[in-house]
Amino acid sequence: MTEKHLPCGEAKLRDIIASHPTPFHLYDEAAIRATARRMNAAFAWNPGFRNHFAVKAAPNPYLMRILQEEGFGADCSSLPELLLSERVGIPGKAIMFTSNDTPDEEFVKAKELGAIINLDDISHIEAVEKACGLPELLCFRYNPGPLKGGNAIIGKPEEAKYGFTREQLFEGYRILKEKGVRRFGLHTMVASNELNPQYFIDTAILLFDLLIELHEKLGITFEFVNLGGGIGIPYRPEQTAVDIERVGSGIREAYKTHLIDKGHPDLAIYLECGRCITGPSGYLVTRVRHMKHTYRDYVGLDACMANLMRPALYGAYHHITVLGKDNLPKDHVYDVTGSLCENNDKFAIQRELPEIVPGDILVLHDAGAHGHAMGFNYNGKLRSAELLLREDGTVVEIRRAETIGDYFATLDFTGLDTFR
Ligand SMILES: *Cc1c(COP(=O)(O)O)cnc(C)c1O
Repeated sequence: MTEKHLPCGEAKLRDIIASHPTPFHLYDEAAIRATARRMNAAFAWNPGFRNHFAVKAAPNPYLMRILQEEGFGADCSSLPELLLSERVGIPGKAIMFTSNDTPDEEFVKAKELGAIINLDDISHIEAVEKACGLPELLCFRYNPGPLKGGNAIIGKPEEAKYGFTREQLFEGYRILKEKGVRRFGLHTMVASNELNPQYFIDTAILLFDLLIELHEKLGITFEFVNLGGGIGIPYRPEQTAVDIERVGSGIREAYKTHLIDKGHPDLAIYLECGRCITGPSGYLVTRVRHMKHTYRDYVGLDACMANLMRPALYGAYHHITVLGKDNLPKDHVYDVTGSLCENNDKFAIQRELPEIVPGDILVLHDAGAHGHAMGFNYNGKLRSAELLLREDGTVVEIRRAETIGDYFATLDFTGLDTFR
C-alpha cells in the first residue's frame, strides 16, 4: 500500500493557484532530494556508484541541478539533451549517452563533452570511428533477448529494438580491443516501471556473469556496469514502492559472489533511473472547467493529454485527489477528461471520486517523470508551466507555460500572399 499525499497543505496549494494559473506541474524539491539521498545510501557500499538521471523523464535545468547537487549524473539520448546537460554544468564524465539509431553529430558532441558513449549496435563502432574517432572509453548496451522476460512498457527484450546480442558483444569488445580502446563499460536496460525488486537483482547477476565471461575470454577489465533505469513507482495506492535498500543490498551480495569472488577487480555500479526519482514528487494541478452528463458523467479539466500523456498512451493509472474533498465518500463515478479532440484524452475512466463541481481543483499524482516532458502540441494544445516548491516553502516558476506565440514560432507567413 502507498499513501497518496499532496506536497503541501490545502491552504498553501490554494495560495499557489491564486498566483499561478492552472494547469501546472508542481515539483516537490524536498521529496526529490530525499529520494536521491535514499538511493545513494542504498548503494553507498559501492564507491563509484552513480545514478545518471534520465533527462527525458524531466528535462528541466532546475530539477537537473538539484540532482547534480545530490551527486547524480545525466543520461542523455539526443543532442538537445546533451546540450541541456552541458548548460546545467554536468561534467562529461557524469553523462551517459545512450541513444539508438544515432546521428553522427550526436556522437561528435558526446565525445567533445567527454560523455560516456554507450553504443546500441555493433555497426556503430565504425560510425563513431568515422564521425569523430573512437574515444578511449566505450560502453555497449546488451539485449539479453529470450534470457530475460519483459513488461508492458518496454516489451520483451527479444522484440525490443535496443542493444547488442550476446554474440555481438563478444565480437564488439574484441574489435574495440583491437582498435586500441582501453576502457570499457557494460550496460543493459530491460525493464520499465518494474516494481519487483528481485528483477533488478537478477538483472545484475545476469550482467555480472556475462561480464566475467567477457573478462576471461577477451582479457578485458570493466570500469563500470550500468544496470539501466526502469525502477517503477506505485501509481496505484494498492501497489508498493520498490524497496531500494533491498535492491542495493541484493546487488551488493551479487557483486561479491558473481564478480569479485570470480576474480574481477572492483568496478562502479551505475543506474540511469528517472521515473522513481522525480515521478512521485511531481503533480499535475488542474481545475474543473465543465461538468457534462450524457451516457456517462464527465469531468472536463483545463489540462489535457498535452500535459500528461501516460493515461492515453498506456492506459496508465494516475491517482486523483479532489482538493479539500479527501474525506468525503467516493460515491460518484466519472470519466475525467481533457479538451483534446481525441476520445482517449481521458485522465481516468469510470473512476470513483467524491462529487465534483466546476471550479474544483484536481491533483493528478505521480506526474513528475515522463509527464510534462511527453507533452505535444497536437490540436493546438499548449504545454503548461512547471513550478518548483522549494524546501523553504517558496515557489519558483522553472518553466513558463507555452504561448500562442510559441505555437506559431516555426511558421512563416511571409510567402503566403504570393503562394499559389
Ligand atoms: C527511458 C530510459 C531510462 C529511464 O527510465 P525510467 O523508467 O525513467 O527509470 C533510462 N535509460 C534509458 C536508456 C532509457 O531509455
